[in-house]
Formats: sequence, C-alpha cells, structure tokens
Amino acid sequence: MNEKTTVQMPVLFVGHGNPMISIHDNSYTRGWNNLAARLSKPKAILAISAHWYLPSSRVTVAQHPRIIHDFFGFPRELYEIEYPAPGSPELAERVVELLRPDPVERDQDWGLDHGTWSVLRHIYPQAQVPVVQLSLDMRLGPEKHYLFGQRLRELRKEGVLVVGSGNIVHNLTAYNWRSPNAAPPVSAIDFEAWNREQLQSGESEALIDYQNKGEMARWSAPTPEHYLPLLYLAGLQEKFDEVSFPVEGFDGGSMSMLTVQVG
Ligand code: ZN
Repeated sequence: MNEKTTVQMPVLFVGHGNPMISIHDNSYTRGWNNLAARLSKPKAILAISAHWYLPSSRVTVAQHPRIIHDFFGFPRELYEIEYPAPGSPELAERVVELLRPDPVERDQDWGLDHGTWSVLRHIYPQAQVPVVQLSLDMRLGPEKHYLFGQRLRELRKEGVLVVGSGNIVHNLTAYNWRSPNAAPPVSAIDFEAWNREQLQSGESEALIDYQNKGEMARWSAPTPEHYLPLLYLAGLQEKFDEVSFPVEGFDGGSMSMLTVQVG
C-alpha cells in the first residue's frame, strides 16, 4: 500500500456530560450508537479523558484494564457497569515512543474511567476493541497538549482511533440537574460556535489560545481538564480533513455535548 492509499483513521472528541449518560437512551447516546458504522473498525483506541488529570504524563499498560467508577452519589446501577475491553501494551509502548523526548510513565494501576467507558459502551458495546488511556498532564500548558496531539499523528495511519473525552463547555456550578433542556447562556453558545469555526476552517491551532477569549471562555471552561482533550484532536487534525459534528446539543444549560469528528 503506498502513501496515497493509506487509510487514515478519523479522530473523535466526545462531550460526555454527566455519568448518567452511561445508562441513558437519548439523542446523544443514539448518535454515539451510530458512530461505529461511520468509522472503519479500529485496531485499538487511545482515549484521553478529562478524568485522568494529574501532574504526570502516564499511559495505561495493563492487559486487562480495570473499570473505575470515579463518581459519588449516583444510582447503584452505575457502579455495577463493567466494560471489559482488553488493554494494548503494544499501543502504550507506541505512545511512549511517539511522545519522546517527553517522558511518559507506564501505569499498571489506572484503568478506564467514566470519561472513557460511559461513551465507549455506546459506540462499541461489545467492548472488543483494545483501549489504552493517556493521562492529561496538568503541568503542561495548552500548547504542549496540542503538540502531543501532533506527535501522535502516525497513529491514524496505524489503525488507531484517538478519542478525546471532555466537554467544550463544562460549567458544573451552573449545571441544572433537574432540567436537561435548560437553555445555555450566550457565553456558552458563543464559545461553542467559536470552537466549531476554528475546527471547520482548519485553523485549529487557534484553539491553543482559548483561555484568552474573554468572558465566553471564562464561563465555558472555568477549569482546563474538560477542554484539553479537544487540543489533542486539534493537533491530530490535518489540513485536508473533513470536520463534522455527529452529536450536538446542550445538557443542563451548561454542558456542550458536541461530538467532533475529524477525517
Ligand atoms: Zn466529566
């Protein structure tokens, strides 16, 4: 197969919302259900979740990653969910290699947190595709996360589906638990729209500067961890890639459920 006919895997960013999404059946989860049919079957998945945010760059190396129920006060049903996808020590090694010269530690302990499995159980319910997680290193600035995305580009040619999981707009203080259809404020709408524009125009490098976009950014991304996974997608995006939004909407008036597909 020569370079021109090499199939590049798409890249996804999913807005995961609150953990109840793992058992819901709604327009978001149905949108995710339909995604698998749009994508060629990946050899493995590299997930970058908002919920593995710590002062260290780490990658999961377990053959059988454990399922982490990393939330409190939710119905028992959620704590009984399993997602027995295998790991892929081979993919983990590849990630360590591609992110050099920055050091990435091999982690035996972390598994799949809800940022990953609450979404993947809707996209790949059979849990047969191997999954590896890469942490979000809180010591690094937005530019470095974007650069990490760029360094991982080869994975797309190697049949790996990279999935960033967070929310472009994530304001937990303003979240309306009783009203999923609550209207979002203008700041949230504007910030999501700005992100869409940069991605669609192929100017995704502009996203690195998201914190300097005034009130809309302060309101929508008051903490970085739910936003940063998008910068991996931005770094993995190439000029010729198509950009689409297979799932969209706002949950509780303060969480953008936008899913971005590149390629
Ligand atoms: Zn979350």
